[in-house]
Amino acid sequence: MSDPRPVCLITGASAGIGAACAELAAKRGYDLLLTYLSDGTGAEATRAMAEAAGARVVLVQADVGKPDDIDRIYATLDAEFGRIDALVNNAGAIDSIARLTEMDHARLTRIFAVNVIGAMLVAKGAVQRMEEQGDGGAIVNVSSAAARLGSGGQFVDYAATKGAIDTFTKGLSDEVAPGGIRVNAVRPGIIETDIHGKAGAPDRAGELGPMTPMRRAGSAAEVAASVLYLMSDDASYITGAFLDVSGGR
Ligand code: NAP
Repeated sequence: MSDPRPVCLITGASAGIGAACAELAAKRGYDLLLTYLSDGTGAEATRAMAEAAGARVVLVQADVGKPDDIDRIYATLDAEFGRIDALVNNAGAIDSIARLTEMDHARLTRIFAVNVIGAMLVAKGAVQRMEEQGDGGAIVNVSSAAARLGSGGQFVDYAATKGAIDTFTKGLSDEVAPGGIRVNAVRPGIIETDIHGKAGAPDRAGELGPMTPMRRAGSAAEVAASVLYLMSDDASYITGAFLDVSGGR
């Protein structure tokens, strides 16, 4: 017998926005397949939060930059849950702050493999299953305000991957809309997570937050609320849309 709770796959759920999405999705009644790359401790903490909120949770360690790992995510999902109702395409990588002239082929290949090709292949697995199930579904891609702003002098490579995600969101939403599958994106602005430390600027949210129109950085929970809105029936006529969660930035 299939699980009566809807099933949501969230990539990159060991920290930050993905972890906040997992906690809120659990509270909203989803069972969860959560992935992480390297932070097993963080992933276990997210699992504990989600289980405390009533969800059944399965964790998978996977690099979304590796197609075999994506196949393993879906093999686990098929075996453990047998269906998918929602995808939060969240896993994302950033490299250190640099100018284009300092970026080499290896860096560009890696960031596009994770943020673009990985996100597209993860979405492909969800669409294949949702179309076979025949009862719709919701995909939320986690883009970035960087897609609009370009991040010159910081990480134009990362910003370009998010621009690609925006284009992909629009195209895929048109492609799968007749099957009742909705595809939307959130574009977070300056959000307090560990991603800034990974770019070599751990104080970035504290420094740039006060320069935004709302004069503060956002929280992962605020992004998660928008993701869960786009997944919900309250957004039943919304597809191909971009929700800026950026305090006006
Ligand atoms: P975070 O705290 O650094 O979390 C990133 C998550 O993605 C972690 O769970 C990490 O796994 C996972 N991840 C990284 N590379 C991966 C890979 N190759 N394969 C699988 N998983 C991988 O960052 P965050 O701020 O929550 O970012 C989440 C999403 O929001 C990203 O797509 C990011 O681009 C986007 N975003 C963030 C901001 C912001 O200001 N924070 C703004 C705009 C957009 P491990 O920790 O296990 O290694």
